[in-house]
Amino acid sequence: MLIDTHAHLFDDRFRHDLPAVLERAAAAGVERVICLGIDRASSLQSVDIANRYSLVVAAVGIQPNHAAEAAPDDWDAIVTLAEREPRVVAIGETGLDRYWDRTPLAVQQDYFARHIELARRLNKPFVIHCRDAEADVVNMLRRYAAQGPLRAVMHSFSGDRATAHACLELGLYISFAGMVTYPTAQNLREVAQDVPLERLLVETDSPYLAPQPVRGRRNEPAYVVHTATFLAQVKNVRLEDLENQTTRNAQELFGWPQQTQLEARN
Ligand SMILES: [Zn+2]
Repeated sequence: MLIDTHAHLFDDRFRHDLPAVLERAAAAGVERVICLGIDRASSLQSVDIANRYSLVVAAVGIQPNHAAEAAPDDWDAIVTLAEREPRVVAIGETGLDRYWDRTPLAVQQDYFARHIELARRLNKPFVIHCRDAEADVVNMLRRYAAQGPLRAVMHSFSGDRATAHACLELGLYISFAGMVTYPTAQNLREVAQDVPLERLLVETDSPYLAPQPVRGRRNEPAYVVHTATFLAQVKNVRLEDLENQTTRNAQELFGWPQQTQLEARN
């Protein structure tokens, strides 16, 4: 069994066939999908999807590229969802992004700090988006690590080995998405070899960047199997062992709502 630890099921590209997408995921051995919001509206949608489909749980947050356009009460709405909705298992996605540069860095840092502090207060993990901002992210994480252990994952890891080691030292999990399967991503495969199986997670980041051999299509949670299969080869372990360990890791990091709360309405 596998867990797709990062998907955006509210995306327009799933509007017409989400039930079929989730059926395919279950048939492919995916036992849980975490649907992450990127702003207020999509966080609400993520919670709504988690409430409708038992396969799905949610994370709520304002992604750094959306922080500039966030209204003041958008953050309050995120906090309320995180506090009240039993199927919210994590805070995010959050982090820093210098690639798109849509939000001034100081604003991104302010929102990143809010997410970390909210996660701490509610005893939930947080999910980090990091693009071309590795040093800034690690600096900020080190500041918070000085106050207590971090429960977090670097999602769709795209940094170098030094960053991966810094994150591992901080106690983080490292999650790989489809990019690691691309022929040009030799550097990511070297990072993947370094990451201990006990700290590894897998994800699709659906609907973006589908793995080989379905690259170019709309990505969906069932395709996490391709990334897992690829990583098992890179790490020279049996697929079954990689599936079991990454699933245990996800359960340990995210925990799940109690069984009664999991009996959603589908
Ligand atoms: Zn994402």
